[in-house]
Amino acid sequence: MTETVDAPATTRIPHWIGGRRVEGESGRSGPVYNPATGRQTGAVDFATAEEVDAAVSAAHDAFPAWRATSLAKRAELFFRIRELLHARRDEMAEILVREHGKVFSDALGEVTRGLEVVEHCCGIPSLIKGEHSEQASTGIDVYSIRQPLGVVAGITPFNFPAMVPMWMWAPAIASGNCFVLKPSEKDPSASLWVAELLREAGLPDGVFNVIMGDRVAVDALLEHSGIAAISFVGSTPIARYVYEKATASGKRCQALGGAKNHMIVLPDADVGAAADAAISAGYGSAGERCMAVSVVVAVGDVGDKLVAAIGDRIPKVRVGDGMDPSSEMGPLVTREHRDRVASYVENAPAEGATVVVDGREGVPAEGFFLNPSLLDGVTPAMKAYADEIFGPVLGVTRVETYEEAVRLVNESPYGNGVAIFTRDGGAARQFQFDVQAGMVGINVPIPVPVAYYSFGGWKSSLFGDLHVYGPEAIDFYTRGKVVTSRWPDPATSQIDLGFPQTR
Ligand code: NAD
Repeated sequence: MTETVDAPATTRIPHWIGGRRVEGESGRSGPVYNPATGRQTGAVDFATAEEVDAAVSAAHDAFPAWRATSLAKRAELFFRIRELLHARRDEMAEILVREHGKVFSDALGEVTRGLEVVEHCCGIPSLIKGEHSEQASTGIDVYSIRQPLGVVAGITPFNFPAMVPMWMWAPAIASGNCFVLKPSEKDPSASLWVAELLREAGLPDGVFNVIMGDRVAVDALLEHSGIAAISFVGSTPIARYVYEKATASGKRCQALGGAKNHMIVLPDADVGAAADAAISAGYGSAGERCMAVSVVVAVGDVGDKLVAAIGDRIPKVRVGDGMDPSSEMGPLVTREHRDRVASYVENAPAEGATVVVDGREGVPAEGFFLNPSLLDGVTPAMKAYADEIFGPVLGVTRVETYEEAVRLVNESPYGNGVAIFTRDGGAARQFQFDVQAGMVGINVPIPVPVAYYSFGGWKSSLFGDLHVYGPEAIDFYTRGKVVTSRWPDPATSQIDLGFPQTR
């Protein structure tokens, strides 16, 4: 991951501290590629612990004034941020295409879903309201308030370089915190672009900071005594590491990990609609989504029809440069990742699976492309089933009964998203009751909750208690205070050494 880059033709991608670009001084940096061409386009600075400390200090300096900024002013600012992001969403989407590789329409979809979180945060005066009980005891009122934590940090993955940071910075800042973001080093430019946009919208310097880097920066954030909470989204091993390290140093932490999402197709489902959904959810964004479907569980006699229907549709998926409007699926993020994903197709026959469609065939010579692959007869004993592949490889697992299908999901170490396809309302209702996953789709293959619900998985897909965005984000980024208040008539004052009783 750490690699010194000497590439004068590339753009340098620095940090953002205290409202301005700050070039890193570590001498370490990482390459950023255009995955569609395979060429390096940028070199991102890797921070030292001292540079992380500078960002945290800038955030601390900004905090007293920011937490004192009225809810009305914060809401007004969020409306301005929303307007700017909305007006310039194409620009942001293009940055995502150039560094991540996803196609433009998908990038725009990412920006739009992130924007919905910003829109939700425009309602911060309502979201952060406390409760008030008049006359809880005679002459005594009790009320609760929620206050920001201070300086909080977010560490984000490569696959949603705009939306996942928005899940974090928007509710954190709206709630009155100052924020330090450590984006993925693979596609960092969107974060710098957002920093400039937030400044243009009028966010005071130091409220939002970006630290570029690798493990050194992450460890410095986890160990920093000036950081009150960490939000993390990424792979499960790193999520576990971040959660353990952050909580060991007394921080609040929510760490969202990887996934292996099952899509169960019951024998009564509409096979055409299920195949369309499997293609969209399996190969959209080249499978690089934590909510991507990676296992299709065919129940009973639906298997043959379903595999044929998915197989028929695969050749029609148009793979190409994300800036070409005709492309439906782009390349993978790096060459290493592409090769790793392809290895699951290569090893499938030795594991006992059938390669129905081999995506290694017919890929362009340039760039990090891999076409969609379909594996049949995948069983839980195989690596193609157990590992999060995170690429355009869909596996079909066949079972006889609904109960076997649910057992597969519930025995998976992950519990992010799951979907069932059926025409039977009773079966779907039973499924939502039985299944151990945080987000359930009923005839919906990618059940990402809308912005006013919260997003998060179960089991090894989330370490911590509170999910991201929506109401749980406000709880995560604030702490409660309960005030018990009396305005006594001095004439009624008396000494009472007993434990306070309600009267
Ligand atoms: P990753 O875990 O490799 O990286 C995530 C972040 O952690 C990055 O900022 C990276 O710089 C940092 N990091 C990487 N290695 C580290 C180390 N050894 N020590 C400290 N920090 C380290 O994940 P990724 O490859 O960028 O993203 C893909 C993963 O993210 C997939 O597993 C996917 O399922 C997951 N993801 C989960 C969700 C969710 O909501 N659950 C959403 C998006 C992505």
